[in-house]
Amino acid sequence: LMQLYMPLNFLGMVYREIKQALVDMEIMFGLKDQPPEVADHPGAGDLAVEGGTVRFEGVRFAYGPDRDVLRGIDLEVPAGRTVAIVGPSGAGKSTIGRLLYRFYDVTGGRVAIDGQDVRDVTQASLRRAIGVVPQDTVLFNDTIGYNIAYGRPDAPWEDVERAARLASLHDFVTSLPRGYDTAVGERGLKLSGGEKQRVAIARAILKDPAILLFDEATSQLDSHTEKDIQAALRQVSAGRTTLVIAHRLSTVIDADRIVVLDEGRVAESGTHQALLDQGGRYAALWRKQQEAQDLEARLEVAARDP
Ligand code: ADP
Ligand code: MG
Repeated sequence: LMQLYMPLNFLGMVYREIKQALVDMEIMFGLKDQPPEVADHPGAGDLAVEGGTVRFEGVRFAYGPDRDVLRGIDLEVPAGRTVAIVGPSGAGKSTIGRLLYRFYDVTGGRVAIDGQDVRDVTQASLRRAIGVVPQDTVLFNDTIGYNIAYGRPDAPWEDVERAARLASLHDFVTSLPRGYDTAVGERGLKLSGGEKQRVAIARAILKDPAILLFDEATSQLDSHTEKDIQAALRQVSAGRTTLVIAHRLSTVIDADRIVVLDEGRVAESGTHQALLDQGGRYAALWRKQQEAQDLEARLEVAARDP
């Protein structure tokens, strides 16, 4: 029986790993089919993560024959640092995340982690090294505890709870009558956008990856929730290589470097202060978002005491 059990057990492990990678991709990209050319090379080895330095070297990419979406991107996220990517919608920000995760292969240049081209390592090892906090988190029709533990299904319960605490989720969960056994998803409790994002952050904390990819939600979170999520993100990104795809500039102020993407090229890059001093695109984008926030605040006041 043991002879039968061992291979089955092994298959189970492989299956779980593949399933995890697939679900991560679906979650991140809302897509189901990976292009067939993205496959492990025969004899590909596992990614050997040292510090988790991410480099895009002259990366070009096109979804189809008609138009290059990325037109020569050079970008480095040093091990343990945080780089934010900002820029107008359609600039190619999410595409950068998809290439790091190797959902697509580049059409020119290369993407490397600790010097290893992502095309030369197994996809399972690549995706184990990267934790994704997507724009829209998919919840399974199961308990909230299961949904958090999903980041590492074999984790001891203390770790699950610790992850929930770090993601500012624990107090919310324990305030529910059924706590971690509360059913969520389509047939259960509907979580808000902010709560779902905190579930994704808790999953990432549990997964404990060297590299974190955070595609910020576009939906307007209220400012309290936003602060909560930023605090949780700071916790999880400390000491990890982090790439933040940002829509709200308020979340990128602390990044070690901000890269402004426009029409598939790096238009500007630097720290928040350096980019403001430069008075270019970032400074203009910042002014625009500040004005929008001021207006929003004034409207809120007006709505409260007309
Ligand atoms: P951003 O995240 O900066 O808004 P994306 O990286 O999502 O931009 O998209 C960059 C460009 O690529 C856009 O013009 C978009 O329409 C196009 N694009 C994105 N995904 C696909 C796809 N699967 N097939 C074809 N074109 C795509
Ligand atoms: Mg995007």
